[in-house]
Amino acid sequence: MFELLAIDPQSKARRARLTTAHGIIETPVFMPVGTQGSVKAVSPRELREMQAQIILGNTYHLFVRPGMETMRHFGGLHRFMNWSGPILTDSGGYQIFSLAKLRKITEEGVRFQNHLDGTPTFISPEMAMEIQASLGSDIAMVLDECPPYPCTHEYMAQSLERTARWAARCRAAASAPSQLVFGIVQGGSFADLRRASAEATVAIGFDGYAIGGVSVGEPEAEMMQAVEASEPFLPNDKPRYCMGLGTPPQLLELIARGVDMFDCVLPTRLARNGTAFTARGTLNLKNAEFALDKGPIKEDCVCPACSDFSRGYIRHLVKAEEILGLRLITLHNLHFYLELMRKARSAIAEGTFHEFRKTFVAGYAERLPNDNSETA
Ligand SMILES: [Zn+2]
Repeated sequence: MFELLAIDPQSKARRARLTTAHGIIETPVFMPVGTQGSVKAVSPRELREMQAQIILGNTYHLFVRPGMETMRHFGGLHRFMNWSGPILTDSGGYQIFSLAKLRKITEEGVRFQNHLDGTPTFISPEMAMEIQASLGSDIAMVLDECPPYPCTHEYMAQSLERTARWAARCRAAASAPSQLVFGIVQGGSFADLRRASAEATVAIGFDGYAIGGVSVGEPEAEMMQAVEASEPFLPNDKPRYCMGLGTPPQLLELIARGVDMFDCVLPTRLARNGTAFTARGTLNLKNAEFALDKGPIKEDCVCPACSDFSRGYIRHLVKAEEILGLRLITLHNLHFYLELMRKARSAIAEGTFHEFRKTFVAGYAERLPNDNSETA
């Protein structure tokens, strides 16, 4: 199911191949996020054209709307959205803890009111698996508690024990035929709890392991430490997935720390406020400096936006709030992330990943992703 093809001699970076019911995934891999059964502004045809290998679906959003009856009627998420490649679904836990109101966590599960119309709802670990079986995803995630940041050692330790009991219940529950199930390591910024959570999760035995509870507001150094504290206790022969990350340099740094899979809303979310990724950092295309710029967003990019349109034209579209502008930047940003992973895979296979990472990170000047400052 998971075949290691090459390991970087100077870091923990791995080049591997993961086999799922809907296809083979070459790792390291970036998974575009299809929150509501759609990668925002992009069609499945366009995702195939840019060679996206796997996308992510958000269980919570699909459960709240359109609901599981609709999903079963259409025969699962693949058929509903017409995406024939692999899909990973999260358990909904993260959204329940970040979006829903009036949560109450008990040993049985979590009770909440959804963020749309406040309907009181209950989800247990078994139900989270049942919902993901109805969605028919290729990879399902266990239901876990995502404690907020910061969080006390005492609370985190108690939370981990419940998360481990929930993980065992998820593992025992029925999943869809040939659906892989991944466990989730929590533990916040506490190295001892990261280790305890990793060991407890691995003892249950999953098809892959996610490092959760990262990028929840902690400084980047703490995030890297949380991954470093978890990774040594995860088996080499299973995929590792870092949930909800990150910027382009962060992805390379995490690959160097032995992570294989990523998902992040940054490329699609930032596109919608006019921000494009380049090897030198992000560009805010709303800025006046691009008004007369005849060049593409990125010189050597072969995406549909860079192939056909200038920065000046795309800036005009964004300023005029034309839908095409946001679509073009989204296509470019996703292409950039997928291309970064392709380059990382080649570099690991060729034994040059260390150099590739160093050069890329040094050349990438981070502008704040939320820097929307208008100069015009
Ligand atoms: Zn482009």
